[in-house]
Amino acid sequence: MSAFGTVFTPEMIISRFENNNWSTPQVVKSDSITLHPGAHVLHYSSTCFEGLKAFRHADGGIYIFRMDKNVARMAQSSELLSLPKIDQTMLSEMITDIVSRFAADVPNPPGSMYIRPTHIGTEPSIGKAAAPSLQSLMYVLLSPVGDYFAGGAKPLRLLLEDNARCASHMGMVKSGGNYASALQPIMKARAAVQADQVLFCPNGDVQETGAANFLLIDGKEIITKALDASFLHGVTRDSILTLARDRGMTVSERQLTVDELLERAAKPDAEAALSGTAAVLTPVGTLIHDGKEHTVGTGQGGPTTNALRQALNEIQWGQAEDKHGWLTKVC
Ligand SMILES: *Cc1c(COP(=O)(O)O)cnc(C)c1O
Repeated sequence: MSAFGTVFTPEMIISRFENNNWSTPQVVKSDSITLHPGAHVLHYSSTCFEGLKAFRHADGGIYIFRMDKNVARMAQSSELLSLPKIDQTMLSEMITDIVSRFAADVPNPPGSMYIRPTHIGTEPSIGKAAAPSLQSLMYVLLSPVGDYFAGGAKPLRLLLEDNARCASHMGMVKSGGNYASALQPIMKARAAVQADQVLFCPNGDVQETGAANFLLIDGKEIITKALDASFLHGVTRDSILTLARDRGMTVSERQLTVDELLERAAKPDAEAALSGTAAVLTPVGTLIHDGKEHTVGTGQGGPTTNALRQALNEIQWGQAEDKHGWLTKVC
């Protein structure tokens, strides 16, 4: 099977911001953009994106999960990067239009249609290192994806690292440069200790990994960092915390130090997980810190992680009631 995110539908939808106006969105071939080599994004990283999914239900209907949240986050990212202001209604319509056009290509669960809205600064000016791009492109690409866990959900190994993933005021922006800046630590952790991901913990403050939020589960309590500008406010994180509250769990959004994490992770029934749209909720089996390996609980994930992932999947797949109104019907 093809790797996640490498297959695209033949067409996407695009709008251009020029002379203070967004153009009427157009469906074009997915490989049809041209950029001037001096485009702002290529030099100064004026780029942000989103990741959300559409699901096929048993009755054949196609539903998008928490589109409003993702569209709002894209507007916030655009604003924090001084990109042109986006029209949230227009972006929502672009998403539903292109998904309904390719409705027949939305895979059955556990597959889905991954949706990738992208916004880039296109003004051809290498003189604007300290000034915003006044032109931009916003497009919505689609990628049908299969089961992220084909071959089994192996518990992850995380290396705890004392550095930040990105600049502390940029963590909540879903922007290209943040991912590039996290690559070297991740590559080094893979080579040195066969870690799957790095858990960034600047000054002992447990934040997140390169592309997923971190949750610690201790009995009936779920603990995760409170929202601030330093890390990405995941829609999956918010959804899992909501489902945990629905089940009567105590949700503690607060600071979690490395010391407290390692102490709690040593309990026999402790669980830890990463949350994100692509993989939903992935168990963490091992934390590596200061050259020592710490097994989380049994090291094999646990029942609460599995139950929360299943509860979220059942809503996405139309197998449980959508009590919180998270789904948008496309067609
Ligand atoms: C996208 C992302 C997440 C997860 O966000 P979701 O909305 O749950 O997909 C977490 N951390 C980073 C750095 C991300 O880019």
